Amino acid sequence: MLDGGEGQALFEEMNRQPLRCRVQVILPIEKPYDYLLPYGPDGTQIELEPGQIVMVPVGRRILPGVVWDGAADENVPLKKLKGIVGVSEVPPLREELRKFVEWVANYTLSPQGSVLKMALSVPQALENLVGQKLYCLVVAGENGEADAGKLRLTSARQKVIDVVTDSGGWTLADLAREAGVSSSVVKGLEKLGLIEGYFEAPDFFFPSPELDVKGPELSPDQKVAADDLAIRVQDRTFSTVVLDGVTGSGKTEVYFEAVEAAMKEGRQALVLLPEIALSSQWLDRFKKRFGVAPAEWHSDLTPALRRKTWRAVAAGKAPVVVGARSALMLPYRDLGLIIVDEEHEGSFKQEDGVYYHARDMAVVRAKGCDCPIVLASATPALETMVNVQNGRYERLILPGRHGGAGMPDVELIDLRFDKPERLQSGPGWLSQALRGAIRQTLEAGEQAMLFLNRRGYAPLTLCRTCGHRLQCPHCTAWLVEHRRFRRLQCHHCGFSAALPENCPSCEAEDSLVPCGPGVERIVEEVKLLFPEANVALMASDTMTSPAATKEMVDRIQNREVNLLVGTQVVAKGYHFPYLTLVGVVDADLGLFGGDLRAAERTFQLLHQVAGRAGRAEHKGRVLLQTSDPKHPVMQTLKEGDRDKFLEIEAETRARGHLPPFGRLAAVIVSGPDEGELDNFCASLARSIPQIDGTQILGPAPAPLALLRGKFRRRFLIMSKKSIAPQGIARSWLGQLKAPSRIKVVVDVDPYSFL
Ligand code: ADP
Ligand code: ZN
Repeated sequence: MLDGGEGQALFEEMNRQPLRCRVQVILPIEKPYDYLLPYGPDGTQIELEPGQIVMVPVGRRILPGVVWDGAADENVPLKKLKGIVGVSEVPPLREELRKFVEWVANYTLSPQGSVLKMALSVPQALENLVGQKLYCLVVAGENGEADAGKLRLTSARQKVIDVVTDSGGWTLADLAREAGVSSSVVKGLEKLGLIEGYFEAPDFFFPSPELDVKGPELSPDQKVAADDLAIRVQDRTFSTVVLDGVTGSGKTEVYFEAVEAAMKEGRQALVLLPEIALSSQWLDRFKKRFGVAPAEWHSDLTPALRRKTWRAVAAGKAPVVVGARSALMLPYRDLGLIIVDEEHEGSFKQEDGVYYHARDMAVVRAKGCDCPIVLASATPALETMVNVQNGRYERLILPGRHGGAGMPDVELIDLRFDKPERLQSGPGWLSQALRGAIRQTLEAGEQAMLFLNRRGYAPLTLCRTCGHRLQCPHCTAWLVEHRRFRRLQCHHCGFSAALPENCPSCEAEDSLVPCGPGVERIVEEVKLLFPEANVALMASDTMTSPAATKEMVDRIQNREVNLLVGTQVVAKGYHFPYLTLVGVVDADLGLFGGDLRAAERTFQLLHQVAGRAGRAEHKGRVLLQTSDPKHPVMQTLKEGDRDKFLEIEAETRARGHLPPFGRLAAVIVSGPDEGELDNFCASLARSIPQIDGTQILGPAPAPLALLRGKFRRRFLIMSKKSIAPQGIARSWLGQLKAPSRIKVVVDVDPYSFL
């Protein structure tokens, strides 16, 4: 006979509905779906906690998802629910990251599933590896283990040792692939006892940096800044600090101290760099300072290293992560510091898939992690400086260059008066003044750099006979000649074609002429003018891998090159002690195009390029070729007065109610059929809501009205600072369903207006 209580319990058990939970899958889906919890071997359901990574059926596919917060809807009939089919051994995504995913989705108007997909970007990392044999280095000790450092190893074996020294926990196949050797080499090392295999839960890790190694002696200003940051790290509270100092003032040295403080706290540090593929010098410095390499995160990682890194980050076994913007989405176990270096850089804005600005989202993430975030720059964005003025951000200033090196003198060359002379082969682009300065520099045994932010040989090819311009068939863009390959290229879609002999329009022979210069053409010019110089070209399409970049940087550092021609890749934080002259071929180039940040970006870029000159004991000189020397950008660059530039720029923006004094969201509508697109845009235009303090402009053909074969139209939502454009976009665009071939993208806080 059961007593009352037990009977009641049994009754409830028999009548119990199967348990369900919400799972957010990594598809472009707004909200989580409901699923049944999985059953264990004893037939009862396994309880799961929010954040656990699971495999679930969606349609006919099985996809990863995350158990999400909140209760499932008990009213959905059971027969409509599918069951969870697998549970990953990976630690659950922490609440902090789940909240962050929700926040980003909400702010950027992106489906939550798309944002979550960025956090779970490595499906292989979610697979269960228990039971697989994993390899790591045997630490040589007193027990008579062999010591790899003392043995002479073949280069194949050494490669394997190098890989396991950098981090542990590799499957046989992954390790062999990463080292570029056959698996028998790995097994040979295991026999020697230099590496060992184990069957435990995988232990992916990056070695801990050496702490308490003395960095360089900091100057008093640097020390004040470094101590301030270290205290913030120890306080474990959120704050945003702008580290404001000219190039060469030691910002990196200072934030290294903060990184060290985070590690001493046992927390992780994330350093976001604008272009990780170009940061070989940064990595070298880190290794020199801390004795080990940090975990890197960018698109060039091998799949095996991606998996390892993701897992190590999640397990808290990657003390420092340095990466491109996507590193912001990793599942840190305990993030204690975020650094955004060169915070003003446009490449932190992602413009594809989820449109987000990694700097701005990093501030949100730091808040969720209760940790400080440092925005470092010599030319902080206007947005950032306005946040300093209104007290939301704090600021630490490093006033001068380390070691007392002076700032370079900036001179303007007025191209209207000092017109470049023609060369025998065609037009020239370098003025007498610039040519003279290059000659002097080379004669003094120093290095010169010419900057032009345009790849290829010529941005436009034109027919002398009929005026026809060679255009991309898929985009509203001219084809750029790349003479090294004798090809024409579209820089928007990648279309490429051989350079035709005759004009494709009038068929005239020998009538096509290149118009305007790209870097390749400048190389041609300086080789003619300075035949004795060792010239090198540095552009994103000539430096195809981190290794190629490193080789080039080494050649410049070793002074095998004395005349460097480059696009903006040369502006990126390199330190070349013998570089004393920087010549900007066309300083006005970035000022056109109707982009609200054109002036700001030009100032930042030219300031940064100028900062490459004279960083050691040699004084630097910068010559800007311009046709508009009265322009505020040119004047303030010449005066070296950044804050005056920011003031002028702030006034202009405030007058136009433009960011950061007002808000913008761009709506880009695209599709393959122009008529259908215009019809849909017309209906959108008819339903534009009238709301005080906001204005919606458009539709207008996008400047790139045709891109990759799709026609494009743009609307622009402008609102007062106090009104969020997201809500307006949501209710306005929510009324009308786009035809299936038409894509509507909302870009909140747009940086590109093409
Ligand atoms: P920033 O990041 O502001 O451009 P860096 O940190 O790269 O400046 O410093 C510029 C150069 O000066 C680097 O080579 C760096 O090693 C050196 N440097 C900066 N501060 C010090 C210091 N206190 N002692 C020795 N070298 C320093
Ligand atoms: Zn194209």
